[in-house]
Amino acid sequence: LLYLDLDRFKNINDARGHAAGDALLLAVAQRLGGLMREEDTVARLGGDEFVILSTRAAQEHDSDARAARVVAGKVREAFEQPFILDGQPYSASASIGVVVLGPAPQGTEDLLRNADTAMYRAKAAGRNRVAFFEAAMQQEVEAQLALESELAQAIEREQLALHLQSQLDATGTVVGVEVLLRWTHPLHGAVSPARFIPIAEESSLILRLGHWVLEQACLTQRQLLAAGHAIPVSLNVSPRQFHQADFVEQVLAVLERSGARADLLVFEVTEGLLLENLEHTIPRMDALAARGIRFSVDDFGTGYSSLAYLKRLPLHELKIDRSFIQDTPHDPGDTAIVEMILSMARHLGLKVVAEGVETRAQADFLAARGCHAMQGFFYSHPQALDAWLRVTQRSSSLFGPL
Ligand code: C2E
Ligand code: MG
Ligand code: MG
Repeated sequence: LLYLDLDRFKNINDARGHAAGDALLLAVAQRLGGLMREEDTVARLGGDEFVILSTRAAQEHDSDARAARVVAGKVREAFEQPFILDGQPYSASASIGVVVLGPAPQGTEDLLRNADTAMYRAKAAGRNRVAFFEAAMQQEVEAQLALESELAQAIEREQLALHLQSQLDATGTVVGVEVLLRWTHPLHGAVSPARFIPIAEESSLILRLGHWVLEQACLTQRQLLAAGHAIPVSLNVSPRQFHQADFVEQVLAVLERSGARADLLVFEVTEGLLLENLEHTIPRMDALAARGIRFSVDDFGTGYSSLAYLKRLPLHELKIDRSFIQDTPHDPGDTAIVEMILSMARHLGLKVVAEGVETRAQADFLAARGCHAMQGFFYSHPQALDAWLRVTQRSSSLFGPL
């Protein structure tokens, strides 16, 4: 529930008359209405106060605070363009208080009062802001915002790095690497990508990060080649990055500039990305595949998709999600799922990589079932390129045939 109050509404009434004030209220109402989906509600409570009830639920892996912040962010963006009153532009802003509705029923009066309290907090903090009623959410949102603005500078400040994690076959030979992004924050130290990637994905930051990762992955590949490791380099491609109109051109330009080999690049994408807008996805993947780039489905088995897409798309590989590997081979359910994925992939001519392999028992089981490659802490943790180069000679003989 969002409670909006226009900032300094009195000014427009005083300076340009009540007719102009009325016109502004109408224009704001229209703009807010245009922003919402059918199941949302926008109301004017009176004066310059509006209330929005949004049913946008938190997506998977998303917190309620983050989902609410997305909605509030959309509302704030709607105020960025000036309103045209009587042919003249007028800039207005709003202070927004947010209450997140929990599963337990709450009375309307209470909700509105709490949202109003939060709105006053937004005003007190200097207007044109969003404040949450729940203290914990306010803290979380503030921490996210701080992280987001620091992340925006992380590339220039050289706080980012790619780490390499090996993929090994049943004979213990390194047959590939995945590059994983690492952010060393000057104060907090290492920040997990599981925390900062979703934050970057919410803003357009992910586009810059993704482009940087692509460039660095190409550079890494060249360094590996120079050291005698002609192995594919897998990198994670985020949905927003992939869906940019000029993504294919960007990739080709980076390939050209870096001199990297397209046939030694694997793009890890998620099921969600593949199914979103299939008509655009297929030609785009085909164009990249024609250059030799291969596609892998990351976290396979955790999406809710139909399997029909597996034969429609130019896929090379499936990465079994580590949640299934974790309890294999002692949990019969997970073991059956892993075996099913392996057999399905074999029939479809796809390679399989198991991620999150932590024990000898898991590795032996997967190798015996014909899994092409295994990746996980049992073999190695992700590490910087120089460290990776140093230990790889040793570890490939260390594991030997399983
Ligand atoms: P992912 O692509 O599924 O990466 C695998 C994650 O599992 C990595 O976590 C890796 O460190 C971790 N892992 C590897 N072996 C084991 C194991 O044996 N046990 C356990 N428990 N974990 C293991 P990390 O590096 O924290 O990355 C988390 C996620 O962040 C990645 O999941 C990926 O979705 C995202 N990510 C990381 N780097 C990038 C990037 O450059 N671009 C994008 N778009 N996303 C990235
Ligand atoms: Mg991955
Ligand atoms: Mg994964």
